Amino acid sequence: MQNLLQNRIVLIMGVRNKWSIAWGIAEQVREAGAKLIFTYQGDREREALEKLVAGMDDIRCLPCDVTSDEAITTLFDVISMEYGRLDGLVHAIAYAKTEDLAGSFVDTSRDGFLLSMNVSAYSFVAVARAAAPLMTGGGSIFTLTYLGSNRVLPGYNVMGVAKAALEASTRYLAYDLGSKGIRVNAISAGPVKTMSAKGVKSFSDILDVVPQKAPLRRNITLKDLGNSALFLLSDLSSGTTGEILYVDGGFNTVGI
Ligand code: NAD
Repeated sequence: MQNLLQNRIVLIMGVRNKWSIAWGIAEQVREAGAKLIFTYQGDREREALEKLVAGMDDIRCLPCDVTSDEAITTLFDVISMEYGRLDGLVHAIAYAKTEDLAGSFVDTSRDGFLLSMNVSAYSFVAVARAAAPLMTGGGSIFTLTYLGSNRVLPGYNVMGVAKAALEASTRYLAYDLGSKGIRVNAISAGPVKTMSAKGVKSFSDILDVVPQKAPLRRNITLKDLGNSALFLLSDLSSGTTGEILYVDGGFNTVGI
């Protein structure tokens, strides 16, 4: 795998700490030879990210709160000026208010619904649009989604609705950008213990059920996700776009 992404420039959005899915992916993408650019949401996240990348060569960390169009424009202007092109983009960003992940979905406020859609679904459209002009040699973009988009997992609530919008956006983006040689996909990950996952009240129950029911009889690891990221970012997936790739030990295939 060592040279699979040699000389590719890959933007990774969504590292919060060493448990983040984006970090697990970044480590493998880097081992495969890619040059990495990271974004962080705000100053608190910047500190954590800078500690993680300390000592690594050739890494750039840039701010981007995805709720700001201006921040997105500035980010891609800087990448354009400093790198001249982009080959890959990993979008691993989501947010919902704590109260919307605790009670019943029927009680979701307008404000909470729109916020979750904005950060977790619309941001993918916005960054794909901004990245596309830099992907002059074609490119690969992918996001992270979850089974709660098409099945009810109590407590996942408004995030499930946002993930449904994210998956539909993946297909529409793939259609629009396909003629430019840009592929757009999503990984539907099984449960992984991260800061975001902790916000979902039923998360530990879900984590317990998967090893009992999934065909692989275990939860997935960051390594599993990194492997699939290598597939999606590299030419190994040259004919794949608009796809939702389940990396969940097969849990989604099981009826009981
Ligand atoms: P995480 O908390 O480590 O990462 C979430 C990231 O979103 C953080 O880096 C945070 O800073 C960023 N973010 C939130 N609001 C933002 C904003 N306004 N601007 C910029 N960045 C913002 O958690 P994670 O589990 O690694 O989540 C990454 C992705 O994986 C999310 O889309 C999540 O829904 C998805 N996912 C997670 C699981 C799981 O079980 N952990 C399963 C399937 C899918």
